[in-house]
Amino acid sequence: MKTKRIPLRKCVVCQKMLSKKEMIRVVRTPEGNVELDSTGKKNGRGAYICGKIEGFEKAQKSKSFDRALKVSLSPQDYGSLKEQFLTVQAKYASIECEKEKHES
Ligand SMILES: [Zn+2]
Repeated sequence: MKTKRIPLRKCVVCQKMLSKKEMIRVVRTPEGNVELDSTGKKNGRGAYICGKIEGFEKAQKSKSFDRALKVSLSPQDYGSLKEQFLTVQAKYASIECEKEKHES
């Protein structure tokens, strides 16, 4: 029997460590585009977020992806990411994307 280690990834918003399949990957491609990576296999620098739109909205508010991917995303970029996010959201487990309550 092989022991399969589950690789954990950290959510850019709530900092929780979760397995890859519970998270949505956002990738900055070598061409400089930022897109959702539902396969988890696209080339580029990736950032992970809990598979819930609430988390995405927090990321948008605090520009988490800008920091994680070292890019400057426009509101339009976030808008199109959000559209893509909504189409895949249902496939992911419902995980609360909550930081420990320190937000005002
Ligand atoms: Zn999260």
